Amino acid sequence: THFGFSEVPTGQKTRMVRGVFDSVAGNYDIMNDVMSMGVHRLWKRHFVDTSGINPGDRVLDLAGGTGDIAALLSKRVGGTGQVVLSDINESMVGVGRRRLDDRGIVANVRYALANAESLPFASKSFDAVTMAFGLRNVTDKDAALREMRRVLRPGGRVHILEFSEVRAEPLKKFYDTYSFSFLPMMGKLVAGDADSYQYLAESIRKHPPQRELAQMMENAGLGAVTYRNMTGGIVAIHRGRRD
Ligand code: SAM
Repeated sequence: THFGFSEVPTGQKTRMVRGVFDSVAGNYDIMNDVMSMGVHRLWKRHFVDTSGINPGDRVLDLAGGTGDIAALLSKRVGGTGQVVLSDINESMVGVGRRRLDDRGIVANVRYALANAESLPFASKSFDAVTMAFGLRNVTDKDAALREMRRVLRPGGRVHILEFSEVRAEPLKKFYDTYSFSFLPMMGKLVAGDADSYQYLAESIRKHPPQRELAQMMENAGLGAVTYRNMTGGIVAIHRGRRD
């Protein structure tokens, strides 16, 4: 591929991804708004609103980055619940923590550095696990899915929001042009960093499509697996349960 991200061996990819997010952390939030034209906010809100997560729940947000999902979850689980915002990247969690602190979201949020492939949490210790726009960056996705199941209590659910496959032709054409020409160009203009946004576009294209991801979740031992497209499949929400 263009910048060779896909050629680097496993393990190096993790380091590469870290580099990408180190370099985008400071610009991450503004770029999300620019690139998705603000729509990522609606996707995230819908993702949390339709999660069935309840007041009092203890929720692990994986790859939580700058905290958009944790902020929404914090409101939802309330004073008797708890949200653990975790991410592999210190710069991203640092930005996330500052943002949430600034907004006064402090009482029920905790922070942890964690690689989704091997979680530093006890088995059966969460009511729900969320991961938004994180799974496609993970090298060993099967390991991550097994870990999500392990830390869930029986009956607990995993919720994954991720870019997915666009099938319908006119939208697909527009979307390909958008992500492979417009995105890196904007990355360069706004953040001075075309490579990171090229990586982004490639990671989206290589991510397993809807059915394949659902199958991977079942292979990891999750039950009641469902998925739902938003915006023509640009993103999809997958959910599954630890039976
Ligand atoms: N969830 C946030 C959101 O929706 O705005 C952040 C998403 S951001 C596109 C992807 C995040 O995945 C980055 O913060 C990155 O550090 C994190 N990440 C990448 N590989 C990871 C891994 N193996 N384990 C945990 N987090 C990882």
